[in-house]
Amino acid sequence: MNEQLNVLNLPDEMLHITLMGGQAKVLLCRTTLMARKAAEIHQPSSTALAAMSRAMTATAMLGVMMKDENASVTVTVAGDGPIGKITAVAHGPRVKISVGNPQADLPLKADGHLDVGGIVGHHGRLTVIKDLGLKEPYIGQTALVSGELGQDFAQYFTVSEQQPSLVALGALAHEGFCVSAGGVLVQAMPGCPEELIEQLELRSVFFSAISREVADVALEDLAKAWFDGLDMKILSRETVSYQCDCSREKMEKALIALGRAELRQLIDEDGGAELTCHFCRTAHRFTRDDLEDLLARASR
Ligand SMILES: [Zn+2]
Repeated sequence: MNEQLNVLNLPDEMLHITLMGGQAKVLLCRTTLMARKAAEIHQPSSTALAAMSRAMTATAMLGVMMKDENASVTVTVAGDGPIGKITAVAHGPRVKISVGNPQADLPLKADGHLDVGGIVGHHGRLTVIKDLGLKEPYIGQTALVSGELGQDFAQYFTVSEQQPSLVALGALAHEGFCVSAGGVLVQAMPGCPEELIEQLELRSVFFSAISREVADVALEDLAKAWFDGLDMKILSRETVSYQCDCSREKMEKALIALGRAELRQLIDEDGGAELTCHFCRTAHRFTRDDLEDLLARASR
């Protein structure tokens, strides 16, 4: 597979696009480097990497749609497949992911594609938690449609957010390496005429090869070709990336939250603690003295 494709290093980015003066909105992105970073951290099988990449791409879309810098969105995909639970978090365009079993794998499907639906599972739930920094986060949940994730996110937007949407997510992976990855989200705005919706549905066949398309074609050229004649305008573009926001301070808070009894036990029985971040695999080490300090700060 690699031999037939140029492995390029085009930048990861997200284009915000309007069609027909805003009757429909489009997010189009390349997320190849994001997937490669996730592969470096989690060492997944190709099938798991494709599933992770698709989940991250959709989460990046949700992240950039939240205008507030301090807002975050957490997506969990809990299917009945061998990959286990997928958790992806975005702060704006910065995304991170963790999965239950990244080494799980399945044979290719009869059509030669990676069996993303199989590894995620065909049954389960897609949950989106949007934290806007208010007291109550917004929580939306839908049942999985196929586990392939594109359709599942389309269902989430259409049913849970009442926003008719087309979603295509794709990742080309080979021997645990992401050759290219990307996605497109098309949303009809309220009052969008039927004819435009029909046009978009007709053109959605182009989206199915998105992972291959974003490998060596500039995103704006893809948009020009796909949305030709629909008054396509690029409003803005931004860089999307894999980034973990964990810190020693956050780990300290987590340890303090364990409470005095558990901290005492860590000190007496283990003589320290090492916490590994699920999203970036960074190990944060705490000595006996560090834990004694935290114990003094714990209120219960
Ligand atoms: Zn981390």
